[in-house]
Amino acid sequence: MRVINFNPGPAALPQPALERARDELLDFEGSGMSIMEHSHRGKVYEAVHHEAQERLRRLLKLPDTYTIVFSTGGASMQFALVPMNFLPPGRSADYVLTGGWSEKALDEAKLVGATRVAGSTRLSDGRYVRVPTQAEVQLSPDAAYVHTTSNNTLYGTQFHTFLDTGPVPHVCDMSSDFLWRPTDLSRFALTYAGAQKNLGPSGVVVVVANRDFLRTGRKELPKILRYQTQADNDSMYNTPPTLAIYLVRNVLAWLEGEGGLEAMERRNRAKAELLYGTLDALAGFYTAPVERASRSVMNVVFRLPTEALDEQFVAEAKQAGMVGLKGHRLTGGIRVSAYNAVSERDVATLVDFMKAFAKAKG
Ligand SMILES: *Cc1c(COP(=O)(O)O)cnc(C)c1O
Repeated sequence: MRVINFNPGPAALPQPALERARDELLDFEGSGMSIMEHSHRGKVYEAVHHEAQERLRRLLKLPDTYTIVFSTGGASMQFALVPMNFLPPGRSADYVLTGGWSEKALDEAKLVGATRVAGSTRLSDGRYVRVPTQAEVQLSPDAAYVHTTSNNTLYGTQFHTFLDTGPVPHVCDMSSDFLWRPTDLSRFALTYAGAQKNLGPSGVVVVVANRDFLRTGRKELPKILRYQTQADNDSMYNTPPTLAIYLVRNVLAWLEGEGGLEAMERRNRAKAELLYGTLDALAGFYTAPVERASRSVMNVVFRLPTEALDEQFVAEAKQAGMVGLKGHRLTGGIRVSAYNAVSERDVATLVDFMKAFAKAKG
């Protein structure tokens, strides 16, 4: 029996994508072996690789001026690769701090070159309960790039309108809200997303980049660390994570079959309305710390009147078949991660549980 999985990442995958992987595991399309036993240089794997790229391009309506690169090392590796590639000596990069992951991105960039904090919503106790408005961010017109985080997985905040960085290249970590709705990625110079939140298993990171921006990357780097190398070699400069990319392909096929990003947005908004509506209606029992305008559609955080009740909530939810609800160790409380693979019915089941729990303990 499968449980209802609210894990923050690695997270729930659509069951049809997993069933397809099961059915294709031993004998992929009559080839007599699994996809992960195929050469990455062979026609069988190449077709999967290109199908994943084509589906992504179609879903995102991506112009030809943009390229899709499969990278590895997680989003955390991109925290280092972005400044290594695009922050040359004598330049500075702007970072907007909105949570733990953006702090980590900045920490890596500091080890590479000059940085500036262009905006931060960090509270004195270290928490974040909102993202900044455009007016609160002071961007430097000659920054090498501006780095932002579109959705803050730990704190449950999200940019619903992206910052306008003008002529300065905008680099965005979209790990936890990639493909949650139709998004025009051509306003960014480079976006990246670790697959294990909303796209597939861990092991692969999707990078969507403007081809001209990639060409500005530093050449004084080992080849393997240059984005341009992966772009020039169709993400097969070395052996790509073939199984992870295959699973991303399955998820993308499912996504398109369900009606694409418009359908995902409708679903995700309905789930978020259900969750936040319940939190607001039961505000005497549940506390939702995030400011309304910054509430994340992907990660919904809240707490109960006591830590003991938080723990009881998690334990009883588990007994009712729902897992992954414990908040991040930095924030405590409860976190509901409701990515694309989490259905409206899953969320309705949780909401019923939340109502019953509040009634019993409130
Ligand atoms: C999970 C996450 C990361 C880190 O991903 P890794 O694959 O563990 O490196 C970075 N940024 C955001 C927004 C995340 O949600």
